[in-house]
Amino acid sequence: MATTASAPVLNQNVSAFVGKTQKILINGKWSEAASGKTFSTYNPATGDVLSRVAEGDKEDIDRAVKAARAAFDSGPWSMLTPSERGRMIWKLGDLIEKHLEEFAQLESLDNGKPLAVARVADVPLAADMFRYMAGWATKIEGNTIPISSGGGKTQFLAYTLREPVGVVGQIIPWNFPLLMAAWKLGPALATGCTVILKPAEQTPLSALLLGELIQQAGIPDGVVNIVPGFGETAGAALAAHPDVDKVAFTGSTEVGKLILQAAAGNLKKVSLELGGKSPNVVLQDADVESAIDGAAMAIFFNHGQCCCAGSRLFVENEIFDKVVDGVAQHANNIKVGPGMDPTSDMGPLVSEEQLNRVCGYLESGKAEGAKAVTGGSRHGDKGYFVKPTVLVNTNDRMKVVKEEIFGPVVTVIPFRNVEEIAAKANDSVYGLAAGVWTRDIKKAHRIASLLRAGTVWINCYNVFDAALPFGGYKQSGWGREMGHEVLEAYTEVKAVCTPIS
Ligand code: NAP
Ligand code: MG
Repeated sequence: MATTASAPVLNQNVSAFVGKTQKILINGKWSEAASGKTFSTYNPATGDVLSRVAEGDKEDIDRAVKAARAAFDSGPWSMLTPSERGRMIWKLGDLIEKHLEEFAQLESLDNGKPLAVARVADVPLAADMFRYMAGWATKIEGNTIPISSGGGKTQFLAYTLREPVGVVGQIIPWNFPLLMAAWKLGPALATGCTVILKPAEQTPLSALLLGELIQQAGIPDGVVNIVPGFGETAGAALAAHPDVDKVAFTGSTEVGKLILQAAAGNLKKVSLELGGKSPNVVLQDADVESAIDGAAMAIFFNHGQCCCAGSRLFVENEIFDKVVDGVAQHANNIKVGPGMDPTSDMGPLVSEEQLNRVCGYLESGKAEGAKAVTGGSRHGDKGYFVKPTVLVNTNDRMKVVKEEIFGPVVTVIPFRNVEEIAAKANDSVYGLAAGVWTRDIKKAHRIASLLRAGTVWINCYNVFDAALPFGGYKQSGWGREMGHEVLEAYTEVKAVCTPIS
């Protein structure tokens, strides 16, 4: 366990929770996997086993889909009023807040992120997502629509109904385990869908604690089923299941394409939140100090394991050296250490696989001629730590510039003028997010309009709010999470019309 001399005492409930073998939640009951198999989750600060977890596979997914189907088609969920649903979702938000410390410690132990970050970001944002979505439960409305059919001889009353899409499979990643569960479950519950949630194999613990709170909130059995397991087995079975009406996925673009193929069998609805290689653009007229702070935060927050990480930093020639120095200085000041150590600013990457992946990119960057101004290698030899890294001397063809690294690695690229920046920034298969730093309001909005990205932050970065839609252009995904836009992804529209004359 990640304890150091200065680490906080582990919350008693957290010790008890990680000490027991985690089960699968199906139809309100916690059970072992049908196969009886379990798998381990690891503490990435040490590489030690943290907890044992039931390994759900196709058979468990089948049982979970049956439970979700029954809860949707004939169960108590469909009988509840929107107001009753909303109250339960709100209560879930309150319960998350009540258990904030337990969730923060679980996230830090399982994912590696600093405890302080989980306390102020992951957990409160998750509670807020449920509260925001609780409000929507009573506001999912159709329209009345004047139609011209009948040529004036017959009048029609025509209206639309927004109905829940049905049984939803949700597959989430390990970078923000609780928050990604909240982004997915919130809108599904608000719209009246039922769910089978598959958390990432690296970080299933907070979703399983959430399962207990879902029960405490009074959400009926079978409405939310949680099946931990592996992507290739449990995840693939869920994406392909013929009785699932929709699949919502967050993760790599590569797996997103597999989800799409698996969904083709019954043409289930698909929403995807995938990778990114987001441009962060600093103009010479920016408030340079805050742009440097923002550029460092854009890439180093969550150790760069953010789909929207500002991993391509474009800086206008005149201030290039100053910004490179400033971001490198930030990197040098970051204390890398176990997430549970209160003095750590940056924890380990989530897994050995990610450590090898990120270090592989660092090697490829060096081999292709990029220069690390700072960092550029693993930190220490225990746990999965990587030094915050600033790369220069790159070109458009390098893998470190084109591909998502998903680690604390930024490439800093000079540009000459505003005219060329949109083309450079848009030169990516991705289009998730972007940043612009300038004091010139016209340039800021002009560039924002030219960037092919689902989010553009002007003079800020990584600002998230349950009310603000988030999602990707191009290969960064389909559909939007959060805001009222997400409701579209969880509802079907029914047009009803009848003659009234
Ligand atoms: P991933 O494979 O895309 O995993 C995301 C989720 O999909 C996990 O729950 C995973 O299960 C599941 N999964 C994997 N293969 C599947 C399949 N064939 N069918 C259905 N579900 C499947 O991501 P990763 O391997 O953990 O990370 C690799 C890269 O993905 C990262 O380096 C990063 O570039 C990107 N990534 C992006 C995001 C994002 O927020 N956009 C988040 C995480 C990773 P298991 O993990 O349990 O096996
Ligand atoms: Mg995997």
